[in-house]
Amino acid sequence: MSTQKSIAIDGPSGAGKSTLAKALAKELGYLYVDTGAIYRTVGLQACRTGTNPEEEGAVAALLPGLEIGMQYGPDGLQHMYLNGEDVTDAIRQHEISRYASCVSALPAVRAFLLERQRAMARENDVVMDGRDIGTVVLPQAGVKIFLTAAPEARARRRWQELNQRGEEADYDGILQDVLERDQRDTTRAASPLRQAEDAVLADTTELDLEQSLALLMHIVKERLQA
Ligand code: C5P
Repeated sequence: MSTQKSIAIDGPSGAGKSTLAKALAKELGYLYVDTGAIYRTVGLQACRTGTNPEEEGAVAALLPGLEIGMQYGPDGLQHMYLNGEDVTDAIRQHEISRYASCVSALPAVRAFLLERQRAMARENDVVMDGRDIGTVVLPQAGVKIFLTAAPEARARRRWQELNQRGEEADYDGILQDVLERDQRDTTRAASPLRQAEDAVLADTTELDLEQSLALLMHIVKERLQA
């Protein structure tokens, strides 16, 4: 049995999971593990090799030759490596979101990444965010949070983020993407996005970052003391 502490944060894209999970991990002195970044790295490889991300056989054929590395910089930033190349920025491109969402629906991809995620939590106290952390990856996590917000609020935040990075961004298109990804993530057969029965629901639609973090800290403290 692992004696490490785990906090699982699941929810749809754009709910603020990564920013909040990172801040929470810093407050607690835990390691932050962004599992979406791992799926994105697989998605990037599918994109680069011209592989249809919805074709399980073709994507599965990529996996044996895929060397995915994770390293933490001095700033605590989780760097992702694909066959030795630092792809931390490349996986954040807008079109890679769709690739990641498609490849993550494939059971072969989920099985390939499951043990890797569990090993991180065996070796470290973690705040791990994703879609199925509380339900599948770490069902024994001491604290589970389901973080969500209205689709419009999530699309607006994503629009602001892209805008700040100087990338072209169209709000209606982003909202459409958000709704499509929600649909794919919640209706797929393999590990669909859903709230674990013992997860606490945190809705950040009306909250700014500071208020959201305060809410999460409150939930974590209450759960850890229980
Ligand atoms: O969280 P992020 O948006 O970076 O994740 C990229 C994609 O990876 C999501 O659309 C989601 O479909 C998938 N994902 C997943 N399971 C996880 C983390 C991410 O299916 N644990």
